[in-house]
Amino acid sequence: MPELPEVEALAGYLRQRAVGRRVDRLEVAAISALKTYDPAPTAVAGRTVTDARRHGKFLDVVFDGDLHLVVHLARAGWLHYREAFASTVPLRPGKGPIALRVRLDDGSGFDLTEAGTQKKLAVYLVTDPQTVPGVAKLGPDALAADLAAFAGALRSRRGQVKGVLTDQAVLAGVGNAYSDEILHAAKLSPFALTDRLTDDQMATLHAATRRVLGDAVTRSLGQRAAELKGEKRSGLKVHARTGLPCPVCGDTVREVSFADSSLQYCPTCQTGGKPLADRRLSKLVR
Ligand SMILES: [Zn+2]
Repeated sequence: MPELPEVEALAGYLRQRAVGRRVDRLEVAAISALKTYDPAPTAVAGRTVTDARRHGKFLDVVFDGDLHLVVHLARAGWLHYREAFASTVPLRPGKGPIALRVRLDDGSGFDLTEAGTQKKLAVYLVTDPQTVPGVAKLGPDALAADLAAFAGALRSRRGQVKGVLTDQAVLAGVGNAYSDEILHAAKLSPFALTDRLTDDQMATLHAATRRVLGDAVTRSLGQRAAELKGEKRSGLKVHARTGLPCPVCGDTVREVSFADSSLQYCPTCQTGGKPLADRRLSKLVR
């Protein structure tokens, strides 16, 4: 699932490659992905791309005349930049992976795609990004928030730090993968309670958040948009590395499973060497 660093890199790539280009056509193949109907997709034709921004995990492609294509890539969505398209025939509504295509006046453009059968990719064509419900509720940006804003946001929600960090209304941009990485870097248990964190722990968590996300943005930038996706895995220390050695201490990375997700952590680095009980079991024990 693309998180802040990947979306930031996509926005950076679009700023480099697409800003200044005029749109020939916006084609919608997955009708269900487009969540708005006014303005119509045809309103984009003839407009120039003026900027590409990020709001949390949302990508915002800006056209002149204040029109915004706001995209939430969800779990399996991605943006592929094409230097050229094989065909000029407009996309037809169908079941393929391409949800939406933007053709630019130099023959290049981009496809929004979504793999798998669970279609959650969401696209909004709006004159104000704040009218997108998911954007309007975002908390402070995880990369931009200073310590006071960060601590204020996290302490506003009592709960396990893993869940609070990934709540977009609390802090915008962090998802399942980078929260594992941030908590590992901060040497905090994913189940630590936000209202029990000391000021020192909060400062460490804030610094770890900035460092992990900043490093990931740096790694991702400069990659071509089409290649960005694979990059996330290469920089990770615990996420999706169950059973492998922790690169910091050599202990074995462990996992806690939930109904539709899992988290990974290092016991030596994060929980005083004690493996965490499976959440379903620990509920019974508590
Ligand atoms: Zn470790």
